[in-house]
Amino acid sequence: MAAESPRLAVIGAGIAGLTAARLWQDRGLSVRLFDKGRNIGGRCATRRRDELAFDHGAPAIAATDGDFRWAMRRWMMGAALQRWRGSMQGFPEGLRLFTGTPDMNAIPVRLGAGLDIAQRVEVARIEREPDGGWHLHDADGTALGRFDAVLLTCPPVQAQRLLQPGLNAGWVDPGWFDRPVHMRAVCTVMAAFESRVASAHDAMALDGEPLEFALRNSSKPERTGGPESWVLHAAPDITEQFLDHPKEAVVDDFLAALAYHLDTSLPRVLFARAHRWLHARAEATDTPNPDRTATTEPSLFDPETGLGLAGDWLSPPASPFLGVQSAWLSGRHMGKRLRTWARSR
Ligand SMILES: Cc1cc2nc3c(=O)[nH]c(=O)nc-3n(C[C@H](O)[C@H](O)[C@H](O)COP(=O)(O)OP(=O)(O)OC[C@H]3O[C@@H](n4cnc5c(N)ncnc54)[C@H](O)[C@@H]3O)c2cc1C
Repeated sequence: MAAESPRLAVIGAGIAGLTAARLWQDRGLSVRLFDKGRNIGGRCATRRRDELAFDHGAPAIAATDGDFRWAMRRWMMGAALQRWRGSMQGFPEGLRLFTGTPDMNAIPVRLGAGLDIAQRVEVARIEREPDGGWHLHDADGTALGRFDAVLLTCPPVQAQRLLQPGLNAGWVDPGWFDRPVHMRAVCTVMAAFESRVASAHDAMALDGEPLEFALRNSSKPERTGGPESWVLHAAPDITEQFLDHPKEAVVDDFLAALAYHLDTSLPRVLFARAHRWLHARAEATDTPNPDRTATTEPSLFDPETGLGLAGDWLSPPASPFLGVQSAWLSGRHMGKRLRTWARSR
């Protein structure tokens, strides 16, 4: 009798998890994804409220990798991505920005089509069986199934927490979490206005200012019909200084900073909310652990245990506009690895 094909669990339906799961499923193998979020996509996110839709995570993407460019072309063919031709200020010369259409969440939605995804399910515990399989449980202790391999794509602090029993027992290599990377926090404000904000630019990178990016969300392609809307990102160092402040307290400060930068008063605000991303951007640090040889592999997998890690943080992006590329490359690297592993079983 033919051996049953291995079952994979993927924790996190962001770009990395979806990309790896796609490759696995395209080989006819069985995969189930779990995501604690209301929507799939993780930080490639869109917040909706009535007729408003704000890309409050990654606002746009760029590519330096040839394979990722091909993936972007496929998303463009599928109408999930377009060039953002707005007027840019302060961005690197020659940077070509693309954005999801009709919103950034369209990219993960396209990647996730046809995949088996359990949404609003937080994996709280991973248990190893003596025969080598894995049991997953949610926070209430409800069993989520038995799997032959488990891929974690959450930010490193969360992955480490889930794998702590394995780290304590010695079957997870502590070197996995010794990466020269720092996850930075970013506070975001989403605002809609009664009329147009008097800005000659649609996307501003404000280097060295507390407000790092100011983006006219409604200027992106296919954002027609709704009111003027903006998304403002604070610089990580400023965000991290105010982590213990209530997040809504920053809304007025952000709007004042935008008005100050534009040297104009803003139209009447119809809606404004803040969101704090504790693990927004993966940044490489210059200080790898000197006791270990820091690996720069974009994904990690142990064929003995069937455990793996993927996500943007495993090979941090060289610029803030390349996070989605890092996540996609990591997911693809892992997906190929898993397929080789499945064949060898
Ligand atoms: C404010 C902001 C601005 C950004 N700007 C850009 C930009 O301009 N360009 C760019 O390319 N990138 C940008 N990025 C970064 C980009 O969004 C990320 O690099 C990329 O989306 C990461 O994908 P990922 O799959 O590695 O991780 P994530 O998107 O974080 O996916 C991980 C998933 O795991 C889920 N999860 C975590 N723990 C559990 C659990 N225990 N159980 C179940 N599910 C769990 C989460 O809900 C999440 O969906 C930005 C991000 C933010 C927040």
